[in-house]
Amino acid sequence: MSNLEDLYREVILDHYRSPRNRGELTSPPAIRVEGFNPLCGDEVVVYLEVRDGVLVDIKLTGHGCSISQSSSSLMSSAVKGKSIEKVRETIATFKQLMTVHQASLDEKSDVAPIDLRALGELAALQGVVKFPVRIKCAMLAWNTLSQGLDELA
Ligand code: ZN
Repeated sequence: MSNLEDLYREVILDHYRSPRNRGELTSPPAIRVEGFNPLCGDEVVVYLEVRDGVLVDIKLTGHGCSISQSSSSLMSSAVKGKSIEKVRETIATFKQLMTVHQASLDEKSDVAPIDLRALGELAALQGVVKFPVRIKCAMLAWNTLSQGLDELA
């Protein structure tokens, strides 16, 4: 196992053990969206507060496997305080990581590799693509966030 994989594992465990932005946003006009992954039993509830096109606050509750909970914590750190446009970009980049990154590792593939540095800590979740069943776990919080943003419109 490479040092980089050790580092990624460390980041995932750290976010699982000490989840960021845990809790609820109770005062309106916070948006509340629930996500469920029946394949694994993961649940996540995302609370969003958006002001002037900026995601000023995000909180999460829920439970499930380490990948789903770690991914939701990593997500909240990555998007909090960003403009909605930037949040949507981050969601798209993460989805790309979960879908095309594996293909881009194949030498015969003509898929452009993803700029992992631009992903920051989120790159730690790239190992998940080796386990297709877990991709749904990693995507749960992101899909739920995406659904919440759609409710803004
Ligand atoms: Zn899971």
